[in-house]
Amino acid sequence: MSERTDIKLITTDMRKTLTAIIALTVAFSAAAQEKTYPEPEKMSPGMTEFWTPQPKVVTPGDILTNSAPSDAIVLFDGRNLDAWVSANGGAAKWKVHDGVFTVDKKTGDILTKESFGSFQLHLEWCVPENITGSSQARGNSGVYLQDKYEIQILDCYHNETYANGQTGSVYKQVIPLANAMRKPGEWNVYDIIYSAPVFNEDGTYKVAPQVTVIQNGIVLLNNFTIRGTTEYIGHPRVVPHGDGPIRLQSHGDKSEPISFRNIWLRKM
Ligand code: MG
Repeated sequence: MSERTDIKLITTDMRKTLTAIIALTVAFSAAAQEKTYPEPEKMSPGMTEFWTPQPKVVTPGDILTNSAPSDAIVLFDGRNLDAWVSANGGAAKWKVHDGVFTVDKKTGDILTKESFGSFQLHLEWCVPENITGSSQARGNSGVYLQDKYEIQILDCYHNETYANGQTGSVYKQVIPLANAMRKPGEWNVYDIIYSAPVFNEDGTYKVAPQVTVIQNGIVLLNNFTIRGTTEYIGHPRVVPHGDGPIRLQSHGDKSEPISFRNIWLRKM
């Protein structure tokens, strides 16, 4: 055979091989297209309806008087401060009278005896009709969640102050969505929904604390993410902690003291 004939034969063989590869590829891809998989099961209405666990039955209080629901921990029912202690030690010394209690600025803050994690807190507070002072020195108190994060209480009725220090702020961290104050002499209603933080091993927030604040039926904070502890001077700090009490603030200003009534809490 001549050299030329050899080349011709090789070329012919290559063409045959190529044709065979193409034929095989086509056959394989056809087989892949023919392969079928199970379809998702057809959905029925019942497949997204869960019957357990059923929410527990809670008997509501009278919404006209804001009385406690059946599963609430009553922290003040108008009779005594047995659920509270003084931050300075011993019994809470604020004065109970006429179904309410009034801040005693001489004896300091008070705290609940019990500590809490996440909760729904209801409390009512009243700035006295004869209130004096201005800005932060007018009816200042506050509710500390887990003894760390202050929800401000202040007479903000026709009383301007820095916006992130108004009633309903997490003090110095956020401006509330509204000023929902009733005038001095009338009762304000706070409903506070609080989610306690979860911490990483290094002490930072894994899940930061969050709070919703409603005053007199008006949302002031909507699931606000708390940045850290309430500080008068400086930035919030992240301090690892567990459950903590509710603290009511005895503020050092000279204005007439405010009063509280009807305090209850539901653990979440
Ligand atoms: Mg305060």
